[in-house]
Amino acid sequence: MTQLPRIWLSPPHMCGREQEFIRNAFETNWIAPMGPNVTGFEQDLIDYTGVKHAVVLNSGTAAIHLSLVMLNIKKGDIVICQSLTFSASANPIIYQCATPLFIDSEPDTWNMDPELLENAIIACQEGNFHKLGNGSKHKHLKPQKPKAIIVVHLYGMPAKMDEITKIADKYDIPLIEDAAEALGSRYNEKTCGSFGKMGILSFNGNKIVNTSGGGALISDEEEYTLKARFLATQARDNAPHYEHSNIGYNYRMSNVVAAIGRGQMTVINDRVEARRKNFERYRDYFTKVNKRGYEINLLDEPQGFFSNRWLTTITFEPEKNNNIDREKVRIHLEANNIESRPLWKPMHAQPVFSDSLRVVNDVSEKLFDTGLCMPSGSNLSDEDFERIFNTLDQIFT
Ligand SMILES: *Cc1c(COP(=O)(O)O)cnc(C)c1O
Repeated sequence: MTQLPRIWLSPPHMCGREQEFIRNAFETNWIAPMGPNVTGFEQDLIDYTGVKHAVVLNSGTAAIHLSLVMLNIKKGDIVICQSLTFSASANPIIYQCATPLFIDSEPDTWNMDPELLENAIIACQEGNFHKLGNGSKHKHLKPQKPKAIIVVHLYGMPAKMDEITKIADKYDIPLIEDAAEALGSRYNEKTCGSFGKMGILSFNGNKIVNTSGGGALISDEEEYTLKARFLATQARDNAPHYEHSNIGYNYRMSNVVAAIGRGQMTVINDRVEARRKNFERYRDYFTKVNKRGYEINLLDEPQGFFSNRWLTTITFEPEKNNNIDREKVRIHLEANNIESRPLWKPMHAQPVFSDSLRVVNDVSEKLFDTGLCMPSGSNLSDEDFERIFNTLDQIFT
């Protein structure tokens, strides 16, 4: 039996212009971690997001790490992080030997629950760590104000930024916005990544803008992007010889990689439109499925929220769906060479973070149990959709 070509969750989607920028890099011999494409890509990001300054780096993870370095996060500090996210949001907290405190989600956007956030801050300030999950394992911690808050716009859906920025302002805690999945998303017409002291973007191979790997730190305050660029360039002081008064990193983006980014930025609006159209097609399909007696849910945009719909996600409880669970659907799709993936497993439920501080309700764990990310590439064809829907029809009969 010949196998049909694989339908991926979120594959690369080049437009062709990338090659012109790459050719220019070769012709001008800018094969280096600096050059006109680096500067150009940074300007493209500034123009698109409306944020005043940008520095491109070799990954989104590097951007998150540098944001913590610049806030002087160190051992003994608590950093608050959304629990329902990809591990890259949280790992840099450990790179800095600080203590992560994971906050569960609210059901409207699946992002950080503002109420749990404020409760957690108060508990930390008062030294009431017993009020937090695993608090008894962190008796060495001093009562303190958390040093930073990392909020995530998961799958492109903006978090409740009004509430969250209000709390960050009230307690004067710097907000880092992990917008790795949310380039093109907006909250009340303001771009995701522009609310916090610093915003983080990713151009990893599966993201809406893909440079084969890369990231950016964006900020309205130039001191952060200047400092990030300095630290990412091995913290070289201004001297003819190599002089260092800080520990540096090798986190810069290559001018060849930035060429891909410049090409990709010429079509960013089309990419957002295509992903949002994918969502509408899934919505139409599952509306039909639900008329057969099923109950499959898609995540609506609350008033004022604009998602880039990086990934279309569905949730469904087996009890209301003939005992069909997400693994049954995933495995059936896989058998037909169609990739899907469970929703991200929350950090507080990960083995590596089993002892971590947390404030949990059951929202993120339930999402993990009942949710599935559907193929969401901006280059999905009509034939691909037909195949996906026919395959799903075999389950949701
Ligand atoms: C992809 C991603 C990152 C990390 O970005 P990389 O460029 O892969 O290092 C961080 N946070 C979230 C939520 C992501 O999806």
